[in-house]
Amino acid sequence: MNIAIDGPAGAGKSTIAKMVAKDLGSIYVDTGAMYRAVALRMLKLGVDTSDTVAITNATPGMDITIRYADGVQHVILDGEDVSDKIRTNEVSGLASVVAAVPAVRKKLVELQQKLASETSVVMDGRDIGTVVLPNAELKIYLTASQEERARRRFRQNEEQGTPNPPMDMLICEIAERDRRDMTRPVSPLRKAEDAVLLDSSDMTIEEVVARILSLAKERENVG
Ligand code: C5P
Repeated sequence: MNIAIDGPAGAGKSTIAKMVAKDLGSIYVDTGAMYRAVALRMLKLGVDTSDTVAITNATPGMDITIRYADGVQHVILDGEDVSDKIRTNEVSGLASVVAAVPAVRKKLVELQQKLASETSVVMDGRDIGTVVLPNAELKIYLTASQEERARRRFRQNEEQGTPNPPMDMLICEIAERDRRDMTRPVSPLRKAEDAVLLDSSDMTIEEVVARILSLAKERENVG
């Protein structure tokens, strides 16, 4: 069984997808990490990221692979494990820029589809239900208000000891990422018609996980 979880930044997708995958014995695939790895590569090469052609030209030689160690996904970029390096604010912002480039999407979607064809996955991203796994047995569109997502990011930064920008700046960054992800011409973030909408603003993580697991059970019984 493949489960697709899409939604905007900060909706809790990765935390929830990991827990669902663990419960079902599936592999969790974080597709955002792959776009982040592309962004890091562009930074390393000094590619002008305002230039779509330059990004396109730098894409073919890029070697991104995914490895799993104790069920945890590691992103390997040109032989180097960059799983930690891709979590900076700079890379986050740039990831949504490179993700708008068709050549980048084509390359990463192929990698994602290959992973899902080899094993049962819980895959999260922006276009999983609409483009990557249109035949997934269960599709979830997970969202939350921008204010709640900013509050969660603030708490996460605090826990990780990352310096926190003011709250209104966090809300602006989230709004800008939403705008870029939802308005790009290729694979914009949107709910697949057959996806179940879950708004986690007033739900705990455990409640969301329980709801997804019960939907997965229902689908399994139907299948
Ligand atoms: O999920 P995460 O915040 O790590 O994703 C980083 C960026 O990668 C997103 O803002 C989005 O622009 C892009 N992305 C995408 N399609 C996906 C996953 C991520 O365009 N399937």
